Amino acid sequence: MSGRIARYNPARVYELVGTVPVADPTRVDAVVRAADAAQRGWARTDVADRVAALRAAADAVEPDLPVLAELLARESGKVLADCRGELGFALTFLRWVADRAPRVLADTALDDAAGRLLLRRRPYGVVAAITPWNAPIILSLLKIAPALAAGNTVVVKPSPLAPLAVDRTVRLLASALPAAVLQVLHGDAEAGAALVGHPLVGKVAFTGGAATARVVAAAAAAQTTPTTLELGGNDPVLLLADADLSPEPMRRLVMASFATSGQVCMAAKRLYVPAARHDEFVAAYRQAADEVLCLGDPLAAGVSMGPVVTAEAAARITGLVEDAVARGGRALPVGRADPGTDLRAGHFVAPTLVTGVPEDAAVVAEEQFGPTVPLLSYRDEDDLVARANAGELGLGASVWSADEERAFAVARRLEAGFVFVNTHNRTGMSLRAPFGGVKRSGYGREYGDEGIAEYAQTCVVHAPAAFRAGGAGAAANAYPSA
Ligand code: NAD
Repeated sequence: MSGRIARYNPARVYELVGTVPVADPTRVDAVVRAADAAQRGWARTDVADRVAALRAAADAVEPDLPVLAELLARESGKVLADCRGELGFALTFLRWVADRAPRVLADTALDDAAGRLLLRRRPYGVVAAITPWNAPIILSLLKIAPALAAGNTVVVKPSPLAPLAVDRTVRLLASALPAAVLQVLHGDAEAGAALVGHPLVGKVAFTGGAATARVVAAAAAAQTTPTTLELGGNDPVLLLADADLSPEPMRRLVMASFATSGQVCMAAKRLYVPAARHDEFVAAYRQAADEVLCLGDPLAAGVSMGPVVTAEAAARITGLVEDAVARGGRALPVGRADPGTDLRAGHFVAPTLVTGVPEDAAVVAEEQFGPTVPLLSYRDEDDLVARANAGELGLGASVWSADEERAFAVARRLEAGFVFVNTHNRTGMSLRAPFGGVKRSGYGREYGDEGIAEYAQTCVVHAPAAFRAGGAGAAANAYPSA
């Protein structure tokens, strides 16, 4: 890939939304060197000054939110209200980090009978932030905000499938920061590889797919560069026998699968209902879906689901549904279409609920990352938990029950980084709750104090009591006592 990336609107594929230049390896090198040159000065500033700069950076973006939201909707196919929501949430997160980071990053000093101990939180240096297309603003800010607060400088490489709003956001943020503290460059695997493999990069923060993650982690390992990896999930939804199937929770459950046309890492991707409530669930779910799902142009009023990101994604998801039907399943269309949208003009895929499929069908066993979700029934709690925990992914899960204690007890049995109770997906997130996967869904955390601490290394200064002035002394090769 060289020259410029041209991004067309997935809802109207003939509409060019914008272009960005591709960074060749020489450009990547120059950007990283500038970030490295700026880093020590940035790290020397007091954390209070760094977070003040982050607040000013948030203020610099705020007036541009309407422009950014429309740009994001047109390049990604996400509905306009979701884009506004993502951008607002990203600024909320940035300001939350500005408030919280000084406490998380503060030195810890101990001076007692055992000696004098100073724990310092030092930055890694230059952080390479590599992000996917599906929530590109918040996923970039989740790395930028804590990394900058901790005294790192940051180079962001967004996905070529949604580079425009990230480019504009990063430039606005950077306008309030010292030169080269925050930069953006563009490209796909070649630019990404040049960035990850650069010897002056101190840490790689990656969000994306498992196959890319393995390449990224291997390239980083070649330089012993630490990584955090936030990867995909195949989140199960566990509806217990007493789950509330009334319209309000059902609407929430439908959106948990179909927001962003299902292209969300923590979307509800497998629905498990008690066998005795299967038919009742299908009726309640279809009714709720018909109310809340409207497929159409992301800029049109009343639309809640846009196209998928590319023609390849549309073909892959359609193939999953066809395979499910070939294996004995039924594909039940849900929701409605916006009458004002020409659905042939973009990569639109009608939302479906798939029933009657075996557990090893691809639509169940793999992350669909699109607008289809399988419904499965279970016998008892042990059967449910075993099937929910099957597979190599462990990002999110949810338990739905009228009895919160019971929901928490089941949640404790799940192999997932984040278990939601009576909700799923973004409605269940919390700024203070660390988010990330177990098993092959990655490692490292975003959000919460842990998400800030990811960007600092604890370094120690220690004067053991025995060797301080007036100390008792110890043998020259003594081990420490407790
Ligand atoms: P992707 O893996 O195709 O791309 C992610 C990023 O990696 C892009 O910026 C891409 O250009 C870059 N890249 C590609 N090859 C590279 C290389 N060799 N070296 C360095 N960078 C390289 O992912 P995608 O399709 O954009 O996103 C979808 C995936 O992301 C899904 O699996 C989804 O579940 C996951 N995801 C996870 C989270 C989370 O927080 N856990 C959030 C959103 C998305």
